Amino acid sequence: MSPDLLRQYLEFYRDIGVKSLYKRDAPHVAFEAPAKALDMFEAAPAEERTGETLESIREDIGDCRRCKLHEQRTQIVFGVGNPEAKLVFVGEGPGADEDAQGIPFVGRAGQLLTQMIENTAKREGIPLLRKDVYICNVVKCRPPGNRTPEPDEMEICGQFLFRQLEAIRPKAICALGATAVRALLKTREGVTRLRGNWLKWREIPVMVTYHPSYLLRAYNQDAKREAWEDLKKALHYVYD
Ligand code: SF4
Repeated sequence: MSPDLLRQYLEFYRDIGVKSLYKRDAPHVAFEAPAKALDMFEAAPAEERTGETLESIREDIGDCRRCKLHEQRTQIVFGVGNPEAKLVFVGEGPGADEDAQGIPFVGRAGQLLTQMIENTAKREGIPLLRKDVYICNVVKCRPPGNRTPEPDEMEICGQFLFRQLEAIRPKAICALGATAVRALLKTREGVTRLRGNWLKWREIPVMVTYHPSYLLRAYNQDAKREAWEDLKKALHYVYD
């Protein structure tokens, strides 16, 4: 590893709050370089918000049994954060911690996401905390064994995600991982090809990046650096 690359890794870890590193033998996996932007755009003004509120959408969800994911859930994990957020993060679905607490992104991956948001913003001179953004998932009930949500589940629960996004009408969306990409962008193109580029969902700019749980895997060193770059890009677009 070159000194320059090593410096970038160390800066990344510092940005997400990691203060100690331990040497271990881990395989290194190289990821292909990001593709060119698939759909560059001029920043478009946000459309008017719909009359719906997050509260009314949550009421409509009720004790939802519209898809089979209701069978093993503890509780519905609707979303958390500022209802007028300029930036919304969309993940895949609740895990065990989220299912238990009813709040998205509170497990290890959630803690990493929080650190990434707050530490990157701080480093870039942007006064931003996790509570200032909005965080939700494509499906609101935990898939058994943390499996990937199935197409019918994404289709059914995705309507609530879309309504949340229409209610908030943020300046930008950050799609975390392949499930969020499929739900929002209707493509099966991989995250490694799409990440780092601005795409669009209903005229709202979408930045694609890796899901934090993917970044927790020890061998994803390049992905961590790339995710940090993606987040920086999104934060500057939204808050500059
Ligand atoms: S995942 Fe969504 S659609 Fe399925 S039961 Fe839960 S709230 Fe309803």
